[in-house]
Amino acid sequence: MDKNELKRFVCDYLDAHREERIQAGETLLRMPELAYCEQRTSDFVGHCFANSELTEKTGLAITGRRADVDTGRSGPRVAILGELDALIVPQHPFADATTHAAHACGHHAGLNAMLGCAEVLTRPEVLSHLSGSLAFIATPSEECQNQPYIASLIEAGKLQFFGGKSEMIAEGVFDDIDVAMMLHAGGSNFTPSGFNGFVMKRLIFHGKSAHAGANPDKGVNAISMMRSALTLMDAQRDTFRDEAHVRLHGYIPEGGEAVNVVPDRAVFTLQVRAASPEAIQDASDKVDRCVKAVAIAFGGETEVQNIFGFMPLVAYDELDDVHQRNVETIAPGAPFTRGIYRPSSTDMGDVSMIIPSLHGYFRGFAGTAHTDDFLITDPQQAYVDSAKMMALDAIDLLWDDAACGRKIAALKCPMDKQTYLEKMRGFSSCLKFGEE
Ligand SMILES: [Zn+2]
Ligand SMILES: [Zn+2]
Repeated sequence: MDKNELKRFVCDYLDAHREERIQAGETLLRMPELAYCEQRTSDFVGHCFANSELTEKTGLAITGRRADVDTGRSGPRVAILGELDALIVPQHPFADATTHAAHACGHHAGLNAMLGCAEVLTRPEVLSHLSGSLAFIATPSEECQNQPYIASLIEAGKLQFFGGKSEMIAEGVFDDIDVAMMLHAGGSNFTPSGFNGFVMKRLIFHGKSAHAGANPDKGVNAISMMRSALTLMDAQRDTFRDEAHVRLHGYIPEGGEAVNVVPDRAVFTLQVRAASPEAIQDASDKVDRCVKAVAIAFGGETEVQNIFGFMPLVAYDELDDVHQRNVETIAPGAPFTRGIYRPSSTDMGDVSMIIPSLHGYFRGFAGTAHTDDFLITDPQQAYVDSAKMMALDAIDLLWDDAACGRKIAALKCPMDKQTYLEKMRGFSSCLKFGEE
């Protein structure tokens, strides 16, 4: 068999098992679970792995799992990732009635693509032509929702990071991985040029309560402090360079409890996103200074709790080239776009900091991600062609003594694991301003 014949075998196999793929995807769609609670989804993945010759590890970053197969010949270890978690979208037609979790980001389809790869690439007819090895990794918690639960796990020492992939990096799950790949659901086929990373910040304003009508002069209004800090932050926007793609956005989880009491406490939770760790640090420091300033201005106290979220994603052109060629084979004539920057974030960014990685998008969905209308319009594209794309990418990487895989594995990454973990931990801090 030459490489094209092997690729044809893989595509024909996935087409012949089309109904199984669609059924698996639809099953996952109907069991949406939130970050670090994806136990049923993880069990389903384990059930699918059980059909193949795979060595499995479970309980990674709580609900994650990894299954490996070795060709018996030397070469790089290629990881194919699928994401387990859903997010809270109560109005979504497939939302869970109790938790309101829904696959409004299409992770069920990306996960299904990984399962399709695990099934077809472990066939002896395929493995016998490849070198190196493959790891199929189901990763928890990408959406960065379920915050109170994640915070409780971090506080209890069961977890260090929001992102499942970050947690897995810390646990050593990626230590022996040379190239990592995953695909995400979307409306078209493309690979972005990068993603923003972010730090998660909790700004706490401590004022002093008083009767709001009779003697507000005796109080320190925590909402006024917060409003002033937000105004100062807005004024900083001028100072962010365009290429840094800075985003500051958040919400107010606490802002007083009664109309006739000067609020003594207000909390603003925000994400600071940017295109590089340095730009994240710069924007984050500016926010901290704004919070410090209002403590002085109002004579109150303020606090900033910082936890690092995700690293920015760097794209690897050589890997995107491999992927583009395969997508164009599977979807001839369909547009394939490259080079568009995504100011949103993914914890695949964390993986891309230390391992050459692919984060591509496959079509088959319509609507807006994270909302109730994000739904599959083409099951073949969403559930079957997505698996073909990554399976063909893996063949290119591991064919011919894994020559292509070895070349991509040798590409330079922005940092090593040690530096990555130091940076992540270095961002976490608790700052206090104002009088004791
Ligand atoms: Zn999402
Ligand atoms: Zn997503």
